[in-house]
Amino acid sequence: MVIGTIADNLGRGIEGVTSSVSEALFEPVIRLGVTGLSRSGKTVFITSLVANLLDRERMAGLQAAQSGRIRAAFLQPQPDDTVPRFEFENHLAAITGPKPHWPESTRHVSELRLSLRVQPNGILSGFQGPRTVHLDIVDYPGEWLLDLGLLDQSYDQWAQAALAKAEDRAQAKDYLALIDGFDGAAKLAEAKALELAQSYTGYLKQAREDGYSDCTPGRFLLPGELEGSPALTFAPLPSGPSPRGSLRREFARRFEAYKSQVVKPFFRTHFARLDRQVVLVDALGAINAGPRAVEDLRQTMQGILRAFRPGRNSFLSSILGKRVERILFAATKADHLHHNQHGKLAAIMEALVRDARDRADFAGADTRAMAIAALRATVEETRDHKGVSVDMVRGTLLETGKQAAFHAGDLPSDPNAILSPARAGQGAWLEGDFNAMRFAPASLNLKPGEGPPHIRLDAAAEFLLGDRLR
Ligand code: GDP
Repeated sequence: MVIGTIADNLGRGIEGVTSSVSEALFEPVIRLGVTGLSRSGKTVFITSLVANLLDRERMAGLQAAQSGRIRAAFLQPQPDDTVPRFEFENHLAAITGPKPHWPESTRHVSELRLSLRVQPNGILSGFQGPRTVHLDIVDYPGEWLLDLGLLDQSYDQWAQAALAKAEDRAQAKDYLALIDGFDGAAKLAEAKALELAQSYTGYLKQAREDGYSDCTPGRFLLPGELEGSPALTFAPLPSGPSPRGSLRREFARRFEAYKSQVVKPFFRTHFARLDRQVVLVDALGAINAGPRAVEDLRQTMQGILRAFRPGRNSFLSSILGKRVERILFAATKADHLHHNQHGKLAAIMEALVRDARDRADFAGADTRAMAIAALRATVEETRDHKGVSVDMVRGTLLETGKQAAFHAGDLPSDPNAILSPARAGQGAWLEGDFNAMRFAPASLNLKPGEGPPHIRLDAAAEFLLGDRLR
């Protein structure tokens, strides 16, 4: 890796800096990144957060809302003309319409600007009128964030690590069979390149679906507008000679193109400008998928934290731009659990972050872990089962449309009861089992001023934005 090429102009341009200075003086802008692996809940989170900031009755935990200092909130055209707008209205209609359904998930980066008229509460507040604070929400796939780990690897380093990972995963069986005995030094044939890339992508998709988190390269899963392009038509091959014109040589070239033309521009254009970040994690989904998925999630958290706080002298610090000040790690879909288990879910989330933070030599930004549900799809009830009362949640099942009450399993009070077997490579949980159930969004009957029901979305907003709304 050549440090010079990595560091090439990836910081912010001069124009960017001056415009942000003037904005900071007059109308402050908070750039909030919302990320997480696919289906972690980004789309639902942004939709519900914005709806609940527009109608703030359910936001008691956000001080500026509770005290009435947020006088008004309104959507505005976003500042970045070339980034697709987050389709807030369509997504909100999906969850609040007469036949509520989950909105379409994040497939690429998008943005939305919400502006708030806020009455300051400092000593001079009586002399000041309300000021405008812009909240620019940037939604992007966590898969793309994990690609950061590829930047300091050569094709061969990446390929060997990727193959070692594949060996441990049943989903990679077909791909491994395809390259078994295959000669990477053979002349490049585009049909073969495509076959390998498609098979490798198929494996990544299946692994992701089965609960694994680390499935890079991220664009293989969510290619956006790059689908089918040469920069995505490569796959890992075992080490060996790579003569000119060979498949292995071409794959190495495409891997470099992927890094320089796909990964780096994403970090420069979007990531480097964030102030605050929420990382959404489907921890329940991973627990449900088993210890291996949890261990994979733990390692993935390390990769994510690395992006937020590279060591001071790391080459990454030169491309990652300014420092993200606050990062919230939120375990989503907490409405699958009775509230007496929410603390345990938050503790597991906290343990995952702490572990990753220690290992990633992380210091600096203020981090917090929480269990939330951006859109509460269930109600709680306690039922008597063979003389024992069981805490359950009830909702409409997505598959059948029928109402059902359900107990997901008991999370342990000590997060190590989850993390240790995961780290030890255990195949299944020895004690207890966890079930996943997918609920449809409930029919809502919102009163004027009320946003959609949620769990701790207001506390999440207070941590992420509260200090900037004073
Ligand atoms: P994205 O891929 O990160 O944008 O994920 P989405 O926001 O589309 O969410 C993926 C799926 O997770 C949704 O279709 C829902 O089934 C589920 N989900 C997301 N948020 C919640 C929540 O707060 N409660 C419940 N019960 N399910 C949720």
